[in-house]
Amino acid sequence: MELAEVVEERRIAQILNAAEGEPTKEEVGQILAKAMEKKGLSPLQAARLLNIEAEELLRMLFAASSAIKREIYGNRLVWFAPIYLSNYCTNSCAYCGFSATNAMLKRKRLSLGEVAEQTRALIRMGHKRLLVEAGESEVASPIDYICDCIREIYATKEGRGEIRRVNVNIAATTTENYRKLKEVGIGTYQLFQETYHRKTYEKMHRGPKGDYQRQLTAHCRAFEAGLDDYGMGVLFGLYDYKFEVVSLLSHARWMEERYGVGPHTVSVPRIKPAPGICFVPPAPVSDRDFLKLIAVYRLALPYTGMIISTREPPEIREKAFEIGISQASVGSRTAPGGYADGGAESAGEQFELSDRRGMEETIASVCARGHIPSFCTACYRSKRTGEAFMRLAKTGEINKLCTPNALLTFKEFLVDYASPSLRKEGEALIERMAGEVEKAKQEEFRRRLKRIENGERDLFF
Ligand code: SF4
Ligand code: SF4
Repeated sequence: MELAEVVEERRIAQILNAAEGEPTKEEVGQILAKAMEKKGLSPLQAARLLNIEAEELLRMLFAASSAIKREIYGNRLVWFAPIYLSNYCTNSCAYCGFSATNAMLKRKRLSLGEVAEQTRALIRMGHKRLLVEAGESEVASPIDYICDCIREIYATKEGRGEIRRVNVNIAATTTENYRKLKEVGIGTYQLFQETYHRKTYEKMHRGPKGDYQRQLTAHCRAFEAGLDDYGMGVLFGLYDYKFEVVSLLSHARWMEERYGVGPHTVSVPRIKPAPGICFVPPAPVSDRDFLKLIAVYRLALPYTGMIISTREPPEIREKAFEIGISQASVGSRTAPGGYADGGAESAGEQFELSDRRGMEETIASVCARGHIPSFCTACYRSKRTGEAFMRLAKTGEINKLCTPNALLTFKEFLVDYASPSLRKEGEALIERMAGEVEKAKQEEFRRRLKRIENGERDLFF
């Protein structure tokens, strides 16, 4: 079956109709038992879980998603920040601050010097992973400009710090352009469908992005160009969330069957107000439903990293970390040049943020809850991508790497960037968690912690 048929409205509606009604406790128990086998769930099973309303059933769902997350990834949380290169855009997306029709937006495109300056500011915060973002414009941000910026980011050093992995979230493009991204050494290529509901999609997007098919088939072109780590997502608030989740799961399943590799990440953005844009989300998702869908994604795609951004307020993020999120942005700014002034607000933002806490405060908060902050980039650096990564994830081996790598990169962070009080708390957390490193790696792990103390960097398993 072609991809367009797989996510076609009638087909998704059939699944949702077949799933109608709230499941019983017994049925939820059966589906969760199946999910605990870590082989994922069918779109129909996921749709049944999305119909949960009763508090007791919701608690069962969260307990299961939380257990799966810990079994596969341990309790590490990987951090990154977006870097916006340009807010010029030829498209007019109804909800976006970078929309070509937004006359209020101060337009800016970073020079290579400014990219280096932004990167240095991000390194000083402690970041090792960045997500490159840019509006779509053949004039302001053609692919060669994007690639030059990525090279600049990799080449920029500050003290003992550097950016070790650049992921990219730019508009759907050609196989040839994806090859250029591959050549410049990107990590994951993320692209969100925004909405799988074709009519809504066409209503919300004007310009080249208005081509639903171009958006839908972009991951295929990226994959064919050799980008085997790809990220998916929808923008919640545009259309019924159950329709979107079932569509994305159907899309992910199709990709896995076609290419042998499921999505490396799924992101869960919800629409936020954007300066200069008057837009009321037609299908807002409540906090309760938002947490529910995160848990369902976690069970349906157990090996997929799940990303939450600073669009969400701290209290929602903290809950989401418990029930399935494995990666999060921190200290983000969504305007080109937003980090240059040390993180103060600047004009030209894509959307408003709800978590404006800095790195130190966020890390202290997750440490207090027992999560291990991680700045790990080991898989990408060891060429464990695509199928190779999925093999490790599916056999549960990845946890044996995530935990020591999280602790080693957290140690680097504590030595290089943390305040004395956070360092003390963090060192205590490392001591407590060190026991979770598998026996065979213990000795070497301890040695590497010492080597980091003595000034070596970038040690990983
Ligand atoms: Fe441009 Fe992307 Fe914003 Fe649409 S969502 S206006 S393509 S930056
Ligand atoms: Fe990610 Fe691999 Fe590091 Fe685990 S070991 S945090 S999967 S890069």
